[in-house]
Amino acid sequence: MESSACNPAAWMAAARRIVFLTGAGISTESGIPDFRSETGLYANRIGPEIFDLHAFLADPTPFYRFARRFLPILEAAQPNAAHRAIARLARMPGKEVSVITQNIDTLHQAAGTPAVLAIHGNIERSHCLRCGTQVPTRSLRSAILRGECPRHPGCGGIFKPDIVFFGEPLPAEVFAAAEAAVRAADLLVVVGTSLTVQPAAGLPLLRSPQCRTLVINRSETWLDPEADCVIRGSAGKHLDPGGV
Ligand code: NAD
Repeated sequence: MESSACNPAAWMAAARRIVFLTGAGISTESGIPDFRSETGLYANRIGPEIFDLHAFLADPTPFYRFARRFLPILEAAQPNAAHRAIARLARMPGKEVSVITQNIDTLHQAAGTPAVLAIHGNIERSHCLRCGTQVPTRSLRSAILRGECPRHPGCGGIFKPDIVFFGEPLPAEVFAAAEAAVRAADLLVVVGTSLTVQPAAGLPLLRSPQCRTLVINRSETWLDPEADCVIRGSAGKHLDPGGV
């Protein structure tokens, strides 16, 4: 499905301040399941409680049991055509492109997008919940793959990856920068997100009346009726029709 006066390529060429708001759907073509698609994590009995802060504090075992399977998937994933198309646009002279992502997979960064606003953090680093020591998550890899809940050898505290769990505040400065970028945008492109996780889902409300809005998503979002164009299809195909 595509609304009639829809010309994403022309709009991207014309706009100066472009904001991409992306979610797990942009990375499904890299082999990382999202939450809410038919083949997503929720359909495979990985429920939101796995990513709930209070549940993690009470018992991190379910999260690390999941991480044991999910970490190798994240490690194997490569940026796809959609990540690369956004990165190319972000490097074009004369453009101010902000990429706000809910994803923790670092694929926008790997594609070469400078200054990604990762509002839910990312998987690269972890910290000890008792003493605060920060480590690269890859240093915990062996323990996670052995099925352990990794603990700080000094204080015995449990490590938690620096991703925002449900019930946890977002990184304030990063989120403030995301809000400012949406307010200043000429073009807002929402890609691969169900727009259901707050406060990220409310960011489009901050766009100005002059801002054009494009949604590229396989399923409906609350923003569709307000968007200038809705493309109901794959991010890779529609952001990079040539598939470069
Ligand atoms: P979601 O699962 O709620 O929604 C994903 C949306 O993307 C769905 O509406 C689906 O129809 C659409 N979609 C799936 N594949 C697509 C494709 N190839 N092209 C276009 N659309 C596609 O995910 P969400 O909205 O990002 O929110 C949930 C949370 O999921 C976020 O907080 C995020 O941190 C977390 N998450 C991240 C990853 C990741 O980092 N890759 C993976 C799983 C979950």
